[in-house]
Amino acid sequence: MTVLYLAHTECDNTLHKSALEALTVAKALADDLGEDLAVGVIGGDIQAAADSVAGCGATFYGVAGADFAEGRYASDLAAAEAIAKAVNPDLVIAPATSRFSRALPGLAVRLGGRVDTHLSGFAAEDGKPVARRWFYRQRMEGTLTRDERPWIVTLDSGCAAAFSGAGTADVEAVSVDVSGVRTKVAGVECVSEDAQTIRPDAELLFVAGAGWTKKQADGATHVDEAEATIQAFLGGTKASLGSSKSLVDISGEGGAVISFLTHMHQVGQTGATPRHAKGLSTCCHGEEPHVVGWRFINERRAVNTDAGCGWAQGKCDVLYVGDAFAIMKKVNELL
Ligand SMILES: Cc1cc2nc3c(=O)[nH]c(=O)nc-3n(C[C@H](O)[C@H](O)[C@H](O)COP(=O)(O)OP(=O)(O)OC[C@H]3O[C@@H](n4cnc5c(N)ncnc54)[C@H](O)[C@@H]3O)c2cc1C
Repeated sequence: MTVLYLAHTECDNTLHKSALEALTVAKALADDLGEDLAVGVIGGDIQAAADSVAGCGATFYGVAGADFAEGRYASDLAAAEAIAKAVNPDLVIAPATSRFSRALPGLAVRLGGRVDTHLSGFAAEDGKPVARRWFYRQRMEGTLTRDERPWIVTLDSGCAAAFSGAGTADVEAVSVDVSGVRTKVAGVECVSEDAQTIRPDAELLFVAGAGWTKKQADGATHVDEAEATIQAFLGGTKASLGSSKSLVDISGEGGAVISFLTHMHQVGQTGATPRHAKGLSTCCHGEEPHVVGWRFINERRAVNTDAGCGWAQGKCDVLYVGDAFAIMKKVNELL
């Protein structure tokens, strides 16, 4: 019986931290079940990546070449399938990267196995592999087992320590013919740091509420000014941007919108539950369905013109009663 761990290289030919975390899980599981560990690496040039984890003591397989440097469903799947057929594993473990999240469900179909994605853990219990995953937006963690094999799983990041143990890996090259693949990679366009405003690792969450698009004291809306103010603050602090539901819903109602907000930014009961050390809410009323999304944020401040807003009802540490346009403009000047 063999546990197969799959990884793909990044554009600098290294393994991503989430891949190293998944290897920790795969190795512990193989050790605890008394199974062999095989490592399969896919990428443009894979030797350095294989060497970086050679200390795990696995048998190494690799699919390398320009065709495998970039993520592409057909070639990633063909490579994973070729490695899996060379290894014949009962369990396959991989990080839940965008490449593998796309390709590995297809691997389960080709191998006649089953797949579970976005797991938070995979470990041996009473001699059997048991998967863990979150349900209801991290309110409940469930465990599950399966009898079908191969059982293919992808693991979310942050659920294990990153594996470390370099050496020299003896990689068995697995050849894969993808000449018939019709999808061509034309190039890769990276989002700039400033365009990507959801930043899970940021210390501060900055929440923009619907007030930014409402009529202000002069009877007019000032959405352009709101956009510029918010962007200047995010640029200066590298804070992560969140939003209330009302603000992200406005686009569907044809109102004036903050152009860089999407439903992915929504914090709350039906949105995200981010984990930042601090939060600053602006022009957001602080209603309960929004504030439940703040339950992992310990230090909370809010800016609202209304001294009786929801934040004032014991939901934040400091409420600045004032005009967020003026206050954030001053904050940006100070920054
Ligand atoms: C089942 C259900 C699920 C929900 N899930 C979510 C969710 O996941 N996330 C979420 O956010 N909401 C959710 N809601 C909606 C939530 O109840 C609120 O309607 C929403 O959060 C209100 O958004 P808001 O505070 O931005 O807008 P508003 O209620 O319109 O508040 C705007 C605020 O801006 C202030 N303001 C205006 N101008 C200024 C200024 N110049 N300076 C400072 N302050 C100013 C106003 O005083 C006001 O308090 C849900 C509701 C339901 C029923």
